[in-house]
Amino acid sequence: MNDKAIKSVLIVGGGTAGWMAAAAIRRAVGGRCSVTLVESDEIGIVGVGEATVPTIRDFNVMVGLDEAEFMRETKASLKLGIEFVDWGRIGGRYLHPFGWYGTSAQGVSVFAQEYLRLAELGRAGPLDDYSVCAQAARRGRVGRPSSDPRSPMAGFFYAYHFDAGLYALYLRRFCERIGVKREEGRIVDVLQRGEDGFVAGVKLADGRVLEAELFVDCSGFRGLLIEQALQAGWEDWSRWLPVDRAVAVPCAKVEGITPYTRSTADAAGWRWRIPLQHRTGNGYVFCSAHLSEDAAAARLLETLDAEALADPRVIRFQAGRRRKYWDKNVVTLGLSSGFVEPLESTSIHMVHAGINKLLQHWPDRDFSPVNVATYNERVIREYEAVRDFVILHYHASTRDDSEFWRYVRDMPVPDALAARVAAFRDRGLLYSVVADEYFAPTSWLSVMWGQGIRPERRNPLYDRQDATRLATAFEALREQFARLVDGLPEHEAFLDKHRMAQALAA
Ligand SMILES: Cc1cc2nc3c(=O)[nH]c(=O)nc-3n(C[C@H](O)[C@H](O)[C@H](O)COP(=O)(O)OP(=O)(O)OC[C@H]3O[C@@H](n4cnc5c(N)ncnc54)[C@H](O)[C@@H]3O)c2cc1C
Repeated sequence: MNDKAIKSVLIVGGGTAGWMAAAAIRRAVGGRCSVTLVESDEIGIVGVGEATVPTIRDFNVMVGLDEAEFMRETKASLKLGIEFVDWGRIGGRYLHPFGWYGTSAQGVSVFAQEYLRLAELGRAGPLDDYSVCAQAARRGRVGRPSSDPRSPMAGFFYAYHFDAGLYALYLRRFCERIGVKREEGRIVDVLQRGEDGFVAGVKLADGRVLEAELFVDCSGFRGLLIEQALQAGWEDWSRWLPVDRAVAVPCAKVEGITPYTRSTADAAGWRWRIPLQHRTGNGYVFCSAHLSEDAAAARLLETLDAEALADPRVIRFQAGRRRKYWDKNVVTLGLSSGFVEPLESTSIHMVHAGINKLLQHWPDRDFSPVNVATYNERVIREYEAVRDFVILHYHASTRDDSEFWRYVRDMPVPDALAARVAAFRDRGLLYSVVADEYFAPTSWLSVMWGQGIRPERRNPLYDRQDATRLATAFEALREQFARLVDGLPEHEAFLDKHRMAQALAA
C-alpha cells in the first residue's frame, strides 16, 4: 500500500475540459481518491468547441459513455473530415478526410509514391477517389469502421459535431452519477503553501475553502491556478497563427446535414460551418489587425445558410501555450493550458491527450520532478506538432488577395514544419516526427496536396512498376470504394433511424 497516494483531486472549471477530466480521473481512481469539481455559474463556459476528431470515440469508450445516449443528449451529427474551400487558392476545394488513402496493406507512403507516379502520367483521379471516407463524405453518406483489417472500412473513421453547451451538461450529469462531487462558486483566491508554493486550496466568494492534494486547472483562458497563481509563463505563437478573434452565431438547420465540417477561407481568416441535428454552428475566425469585430460579424451573417438564431458573439484569444503544463501540484488542461485555433478541431482532442498522459504519469504526494518534467516534455512536443500542422494550411496557400494572406503565406515557419514541407516538395516524402503525434502522414498528404504542393521528383524505386497495371489497380480501388459507399446510409437517414431507435427504446 502506497502511503503517499493522492487522496483528493480538485478540478477547477466545469467546461468541456473540466468535465472530461472529472469523468476520466474518477474512472481511473475509483473510490480511493475523492474527485471534486468547482465551477461558477456566474462566469459560465466558453460555449464553443463543437467539432471533434475520431479520438473522441476512444474517450467516450474509456469513460463508459453510451454512443446512442451521447448523440441524443448532445444533438450530435457524424463528421468524416473537413472540407477546405478557397484555402490553397480562391476557387479551390479539397477534403481532409479522417480515414486512410488506398489500402492498409499499401500504407500511405507507398500509396503516395504510386499516386504521384500516376499523376505524373496524367492517369490519377482526384485524391478523394482513393479514400472511402472522402467518397462517403462527398456523397453525404456515413458508416462505421470495420474491425476486419482486410476490409476497406477498417480505414474509415468518424467523429462528431455536437452542441458544446449540451455536451458540458451531459458530462456533468454523467460525472455526478459516477461519484464526482460538484461545488458551485466563484474562486476569489488561490491559497499556496509558504514552504514550496504548492497550491493548498481555493477560496470561494462565499468564504468556503476547498482543499486538495492535486489540482487540475481547467479554468479556461484565465488560467486561474497555472498562471494567475503559479505564473507558469506563456509562449506566444501569434507570429505564426495571427488570428486572434472569433465571432460565432448559430443558424437554423438546413436539409441534408453534411457529414463534415466546412472551413472557408476569407479575407482575414476563415469561417466554420458545423451542422448539428437541430441547428448549424457558424463562426468567423479572424485577425483583428486586418478586420474589425463589427465587419467580421457582418461578413458572417451575410454568409449564413439560413436565419440566425442568436446575436453574434465575439471571443478573443491568442495562440500559444503555457511554458509548463504541469507545475508543482497543478496540471492544466483545455484553454487554460494553451490554444491552437480551431481549424483542425484539435482542442478537445488535446484535452483527451493530456488526460491520457496525466493518467500515465499519475503522481503520488512526492510529485517526482522527473515525472513532471517528462510529462511537460511529451505534451509540449505533441502540441507543437499540432501547431505546425495548422500553420501548414496558411503557409501553403498561394492567395494574394489581402494583406493577411500575403503575411501568412510569406512568414517564416517553425523549422520542423519547413523541413517536412521541403521533404514532400523534394520527393513526396511523408513522415512523423513525434511518437504521440496526432496527425498521421495521411493527413499531411491531404493538406499538402490539397493546398497545391506538388513534389518535384519521386522515389525512383517506384519507376519499376508497370504503369498500366498500376492505373488498373487504382481504378479497381476507386470502384470498390464507390460500391461500398453505395451501400452506406445517407447521413440524415442514419440520424433519423438513430432517433427512432432511441424513441422506441425510451
Ligand atoms: C472560437 C473557438 C472555437 C473552438 N472550436 C473548437 C472546435 O471546433 N473543436 C475543438 O475541439 N475545440 C474547439 N475550441 C476549443 C474548445 O472550445 C475548448 O477546448 C473547450 O471548450 C474546453 O474549454 P475549457 O473547458 O478549457 O474552458 P471553459 O469552457 O471556458 O470553462 C472554464 C470553466 O472554468 C470556470 N471558472 C473560470 N474562472 C472561475 C472562477 N474564478 N471560479 C470558479 N470557476 C471558474 C468557468 O465557470 C468554466 O466552468 C474552440 C475554441 C474557440 C475559442
